[in-house]
Amino acid sequence: MSTAQRTLHPRLQALQDSFAASPLTEVFSPALSQRQLRLWLKRDDLLHPIISGNKWRKLKYVLDHALQSGAHTLVSMGGPYSNHLHALAYAGQVLGLNTVAYVRGESPEPLTPTLQDAQAWGMRLRFTSRSDYRLLRAYKDPASLPGLQAGEYWVPEGGACERALPGVAELVAEVEADMDAPFDVLAVACGTGTTLAGLVLGAPSHTQVIGVAALKNADFLQADVQSLLASHAAQARADWRLVSDETGAGFGKTSPALLSFMHDFEQAHGIALDPVYTGKLMFAIDRWD
Ligand SMILES: *Cc1c(COP(=O)(O)O)cnc(C)c1O
Repeated sequence: MSTAQRTLHPRLQALQDSFAASPLTEVFSPALSQRQLRLWLKRDDLLHPIISGNKWRKLKYVLDHALQSGAHTLVSMGGPYSNHLHALAYAGQVLGLNTVAYVRGESPEPLTPTLQDAQAWGMRLRFTSRSDYRLLRAYKDPASLPGLQAGEYWVPEGGACERALPGVAELVAEVEADMDAPFDVLAVACGTGTTLAGLVLGAPSHTQVIGVAALKNADFLQADVQSLLASHAAQARADWRLVSDETGAGFGKTSPALLSFMHDFEQAHGIALDPVYTGKLMFAIDRWD
């Protein structure tokens, strides 16, 4: 199924039209040229001031499906710092959809900046014990969450579902169009692994797609990515593999090595990395042979 010709819901099309094209920029360093590597960054963080790039890419066809099926409310889940919830709350407000979120743990006092924004955009927050929160992870399909009312549309944690993949795959076509030569490797940081799976779907068969896990021990990710790709098996031909985070920091945590690397990277390239994902990704790439 080709997604390029699919007609988006007009309200979603209008939102997409408000986005900038994200630039592809080459990064230079003595260490890279020594190893005869060339490195480009797809600056999807510049797509939109609020919805960071891959969150939009993953939500695009999920939101389209919700709108096309007449949903009036999006229901999802996330932690108190979830960029997924942040993006969903904003998109919901722009698209005229109500949003409801199951938030992990007790209500922080004060609310995190992420949740303050989400609430200001109209998201209703339902704080959920860690054990109940874990149970919500079992539900993947839009209508699968027990107790869902008519017109309510369930979006799993991190937007991790098969419908998220084609939106990410479109990013690969943009990269190919901007390059003057074929690339060998696509690399991305992984939380749920959905972005990685989307890249695999979009990548040409000669490419290797490498996911750097934002968690120290991410063995379960392998199975998650495999199951996301199962429904797209015919199109997903690129090789992929996962590597673990080597910075010594846990998920959402930092380490002295990571912080000092991020500081040096920003000094050298004028690009700020985040400690959760892009910092760990670039740290890993910096150590490749
Ligand atoms: C959210 C995020 C990720 C994780 O994406 P998954 O699809 O959950 O693996 C990786 N990198 C960045 C920059 C992100 O914002």
